[in-house]
Amino acid sequence: GGGRRCRRLEGEAARAVLGAAEALLFDCDGVLWRGEAAVAGAAEALGRLAAAGKRLCYVTNNSSRTRGAYTEKLRRLGFPPAEPRHVFGSAYCAARYLRQALPPGAAAYVLGSAALGAELEAAGVPHLGPGPAALPGPAPADWARAPLDPAVRAVLVGFDEHFSYAKLCQALRYLQRGGGAGCLLVGTNRDHRLPLEGGAAIPGTGCLVKAVETAAEREAFIVGKPNRYMFDCVVSEFNIDPARTIMVGDRLDTDILMGNNCGLTTLLTLTGVTTLEEVQGHQESDCPARQSLVPDYYVDSIADLLPALGD
Ligand code: PLP
Ligand code: CA
Repeated sequence: GGGRRCRRLEGEAARAVLGAAEALLFDCDGVLWRGEAAVAGAAEALGRLAAAGKRLCYVTNNSSRTRGAYTEKLRRLGFPPAEPRHVFGSAYCAARYLRQALPPGAAAYVLGSAALGAELEAAGVPHLGPGPAALPGPAPADWARAPLDPAVRAVLVGFDEHFSYAKLCQALRYLQRGGGAGCLLVGTNRDHRLPLEGGAAIPGTGCLVKAVETAAEREAFIVGKPNRYMFDCVVSEFNIDPARTIMVGDRLDTDILMGNNCGLTTLLTLTGVTTLEEVQGHQESDCPARQSLVPDYYVDSIADLLPALGD
C-alpha cells in the first residue's frame, strides 16, 4: 500500500505543526473527556493553546446537549472558558440547517432529546416533539389515524431515548405526505454505537436514522461528522482557513474522515474508540476509501502535546 502515512506528533514536528495552526477543532467525548471524567492533562493542553492565541472550537455528533450545556461542562471540567458560539453540536447544526432549508413557519417533527428541541427553539424553527408520541388507540393500525400537523415539512432524527414504533409510524406518515416531495428527512449523525467502559456499547443515533430511512425508502441528509456541513457551519461563523486548522478526534469514520475531506490537518488521539492497529490496516490498504480514514498524525493523548506548548 502507500499514500497517506500517519506519524506520531512529537518533538520538533509537534512544535512546527501547532505553531502554524490558527484554529483547532476538538471532538469532545474520547478526546477531552470520557463520560464525566476529563482526560488527564487535556484541560492544561487546551489552556496553553488558548494562551497561545489559537481559536478553539468544539465539534460533537452528540445531539443530546445544547451549546450552553457543553460550555458548562467545559467549565466544570477545568477547560479554558468557551462561549456557546464556539460549540458546534449536531443539535445546533441541525437546527441551523432546518432554519435555512425550511420555508418560514414550516415545522419539524422531531425524534430526539429535549436539547434538540431547545436548539430548534433558539433557531426559531417550530417543532412537534420531542416527547412521547400521542397514541390515538391501542393497536398500531389505529396510530395511522393520529392527527398530522399541516405545518410539518421535515422529519428530524437525533438521539432519542424514547424512540418507539408509534413515532416511526408518525415519521413515515409525514414523509409520505404529498408523495414525499414536501417533507425533508434529516439526521443529526450516523454513529451506530456509543462505546461504554470495558468494551460494552449502546446503540447510537445511526440505528434510529436507519429505521426511519428503511421505513421511508429514502436517504436522510446527515448534519454531523463526517459530513462537511458541520465544518461549513464553523467556517461561516469564524472564517477559519482549512489549511491552518487542525481537527482533533478519536474516531476515524467521523472526525478524521471529515477533516481529511475538508482539507484540515488531522490528529487522532488514542484516548477514545480507535486503536493504532486500525490505522495501520487502513494505511496498508490501496483502497481510496480506506486511505481517507488515515490521519496525518496521532498522539496517545492530547496531554502529549504539553511539551510542544512550552510552560
Ligand atoms: N451521540 C451521543 C448520543 C453521544 O452520547 C455521543 C458521545 O457521548 C456521541 C454521539 C459522540 O460524540 P462525539 O462526536 O463528541 O464523540
Ligand atoms: Ca468522539
